Amino acid sequence: MKIIAVGMNYATHNKEMRNSLELSEPTIFMKSDSSLLKDGKPFFIPDFSSEIHYETEIVVRIDRLGKNIAERFAHRYYKEITVGIDFTARDLQSGLRRQGLPWEISKAFDNSAVTGTFIPLEETGNINLIPFHLRINGIKVQEGNTADMLFPVDKIIAYVSRFFTLKIGDLIYTGTPAGVGPVQIGDHLEGYIGERKLLDFHIR
Ligand code: ZN
Repeated sequence: MKIIAVGMNYATHNKEMRNSLELSEPTIFMKSDSSLLKDGKPFFIPDFSSEIHYETEIVVRIDRLGKNIAERFAHRYYKEITVGIDFTARDLQSGLRRQGLPWEISKAFDNSAVTGTFIPLEETGNINLIPFHLRINGIKVQEGNTADMLFPVDKIIAYVSRFFTLKIGDLIYTGTPAGVGPVQIGDHLEGYIGERKLLDFHIR
């Protein structure tokens, strides 16, 4: 199982991070299989970072083997989505980016890819019109809609499948909107698609 993630896929987030708004292709990185955290298990803040940020994202689960998938057929390769967190060690990432170095350790560390409960697309409606949000300690801190993606899900699938064979169970983190921020020990995170809570865990 592999975890593919898209960086800089919402213009509002790129603005807050002062990244380029003019991208001709998706920015892709990978998280490791040991980064997966699910079933509401707690996230423990690692000792190598003092700035762990949440990034709330729609996560798509691949359910069919594919390579070089055409965009118009991409919808046949997934049936379920959820909301997840792409935890990022922002302090490490900023340092590595400044030096032009790969930033895997800031993104692919253990338990950095949190997933909620997957639900079928029949229950969520159009993949390109999915509202989602995150609450921390009961307060809404981040919200987005897949309509605002720079590269929509089917385009992402077409693009990444040129490079990586997609397999059943692979996950795609589709990018985060504006509103990222730090987490602290004791925080309670709840992620929603629409008004439906699919993600619920604590920071320890
Ligand atoms: Zn992200």
